[in-house]
Amino acid sequence: METQPHVLIFPLPLQGPVNCMLNLAEILCIHDDIHVTFLNTDHVHRRLLSYTDADERFRRYPNFRFQTLPDGMPEDSPRTGEQIVELIQSIEKVTCPLFREMVTAGGSASARSEKPPVSCLIVDGIFPFAVDIAKDIGVPLFYFDTISPCAVWIYLLVPKLIEAGELPFQGDDLDAPVPCVPGMENILRRRDLPNFCQSKTILEDPIIQMVLNEAQYLPKAQGLIFNTFQDIDGPILQQFRSISPNVYAVGPLHAHRKARIDSELPKTSNSIWKEDWSCMEWLDKQPQKSVLYVSIGSLAVISEHQFMELWHGLVKSGVRFLWVQRPGSIIRPSNSESQISKASVELSRETEERGCIVSWAPQERVLAHPSVAGFLTHSGWNSTLESIVEGVPMICWPYFVDQQVNSRYVGEVWKIGLDMKDLCSQDVVERMVREVMEGKKDEFIERSEKLANLAKQSVMEGGDSYQDMERLINDIRHMRI
Ligand code: UDP
Repeated sequence: METQPHVLIFPLPLQGPVNCMLNLAEILCIHDDIHVTFLNTDHVHRRLLSYTDADERFRRYPNFRFQTLPDGMPEDSPRTGEQIVELIQSIEKVTCPLFREMVTAGGSASARSEKPPVSCLIVDGIFPFAVDIAKDIGVPLFYFDTISPCAVWIYLLVPKLIEAGELPFQGDDLDAPVPCVPGMENILRRRDLPNFCQSKTILEDPIIQMVLNEAQYLPKAQGLIFNTFQDIDGPILQQFRSISPNVYAVGPLHAHRKARIDSELPKTSNSIWKEDWSCMEWLDKQPQKSVLYVSIGSLAVISEHQFMELWHGLVKSGVRFLWVQRPGSIIRPSNSESQISKASVELSRETEERGCIVSWAPQERVLAHPSVAGFLTHSGWNSTLESIVEGVPMICWPYFVDQQVNSRYVGEVWKIGLDMKDLCSQDVVERMVREVMEGKKDEFIERSEKLANLAKQSVMEGGDSYQDMERLINDIRHMRI
């Protein structure tokens, strides 16, 4: 008799990947015959239990369990974008051997917890070690890269860019086109490539080794999962089909989860920061489609100078704004007096009149609020998809990883916002905010709403993402290697 399928899901322990994979896990859990183990690091798990309803929500599924392992990082590490390489290295060194032990000891451990043995792995695309582990235990491996597929595709082509002499860049022209990325012809300029590509010493960068490695091991998986949908990423998904036998585009996953699970709890969230819901009351008091939402996500950091330019620009634009100022997101130069504390009385007064500042917001709810008309974002992939689903135009100020290419697609391909990359001065902020919130508001909203409809259709029964999810579920049930 065939044993029941048991999926082990292991995200990169950061807000974005954890969020995506929890959404996927919950969709899998509504199928009683599929057992799901969700592997968190201790750090993420503690925060998830403190700040969300995840414990209560997942307790409804007897086929689900959380397991945890250490990430090997010092407990007080802020784990922002600046520590990502260190975090990934630490996972390889500390967490990977424990993970291997956990899955290879699967038989006995599973017996104790009355779970069948692990029959398939879904892990973050940044974990090379999963290929050997899946092979050793004889189960299919699905890589889930939770950043945008466009960025993953560029990663896979980095060896070709190096070979063609495109990388490192010759000269300083960041507007020069990048010709040899199939599927992105006439779209990419040098400045739209991941930020590490701008390094003159790129070949020595630890990131480049990870990226070169990814091109080797990703095609070895039985399948690749992406948080996207056909209408926005069709040409790139087609490219991935040339290197992988099974490509599943199942996004936008947060909308997909909502479409399949109607028993939503009132404050359902996957946040690993404490959400401040007072901003929802503030939004209730603002006129319809009048507020710009501003957030740089969970990892980006900015300098005090950039913060001040952004602040001046927002105030000068005259619009109402809800601004997330995540603790630790502003890097202060040591030994110099804080510019922020020297901000003028006028700047502070106008902010109080028209602005609301919180340290973390329930972002999906914020973007769905009728008062919100624009999103000044760092262009993280979750934020981009959340904005697309709610039909909210964007002003993009990318920081790293996939954000440079995501913002290019928002501005040039989907035309649902403006790309502010490399330009964040107060005058540019003011001009772009006015353009999105006033001058071209209607045309941006019209295009954004069209895309929002396509996104929502894709996760409804019969839609492309819905069908890919059905195919994934079927393969989880029956694929053997
Ligand atoms: N987020 C949130 N509240 C905030 C800011 C961000 O809930 O105040 C969530 C947001 O909804 C998204 C995630 O944090 O799901 C950020 O992921 P993204 O991929 O956009 O960027 P990253 O944080 O990985 O750079």
